[in-house]
Amino acid sequence: MSSEGNKSCPLCGGLGFVFTEKGAKRCRCVYERFNLGKYLNIPKRFWDADIRQVRQTLDRKTLATLYGYLKDFKTFYRKGVGLLLVGEQGVGKTYIVSAVLKYLYTKYRIKGLFTDTKELSIKLRESFAEKGASEIIESLARVPILVLDDLGNEVLTDWYREILTGLISRRYNEKKVTFITTNYYPSYLVGRTSEGQSLGRGVKVISRAERGINFPKLNTVSEDMLLDKRFGSHMVSRLGEMTIPIVVLGRDKRLQKVVI
Ligand SMILES: [Zn+2]
Repeated sequence: MSSEGNKSCPLCGGLGFVFTEKGAKRCRCVYERFNLGKYLNIPKRFWDADIRQVRQTLDRKTLATLYGYLKDFKTFYRKGVGLLLVGEQGVGKTYIVSAVLKYLYTKYRIKGLFTDTKELSIKLRESFAEKGASEIIESLARVPILVLDDLGNEVLTDWYREILTGLISRRYNEKKVTFITTNYYPSYLVGRTSEGQSLGRGVKVISRAERGINFPKLNTVSEDMLLDKRFGSHMVSRLGEMTIPIVVLGRDKRLQKVVI
């Protein structure tokens, strides 16, 4: 007998029915399509994000890193190691992280929570008056997988910087998996700044060959594009420990540019 339910339905686990006081009844997912994207708080625009399409935006080596991460996710999950997706605006970072979140739920049944850092600051400010802000932060600190989308592009008051660094630091200490997308570069991915001064440990993770038209200055990023400038080197070095970097070049866009 095949089940009628949706395999990724959290209510029935794919059985197609749930038990109530009055007995078994058909699960909601039999009638309506269970929306995994919505369930994981992914923005509507990315509900259809598909892990198989991700190869469009990554070069072969980076893709292998990502697939290796997904394959060994259980190990990384135990160690609290997430991903840091870095690249220019509009290259597909949010798409990738949405696809990863959907994949991890389907494969491992681990529920992630997508948050946009800009929206989060508004939500926190609104709920601050009702003293609901600390509850929100508490739940964000605890979720098994947390996405902080577009880190660095929020309006960064001292108050919000403290909240974000505190949240990241808690997740680091608790060994919780965090996924970050950003178009600011952590200094450990950059050889030197445009001013020519060496930064951090000066580790060049990115080879010259990997630099695309869309990502021209990875070895020479201007100082104001450094994540360190916004959050301080202490937090950034923590991110370096708790995430694997995925540099998104946006291959499609690059090809378009070549054609033009
Ligand atoms: Zn169901």
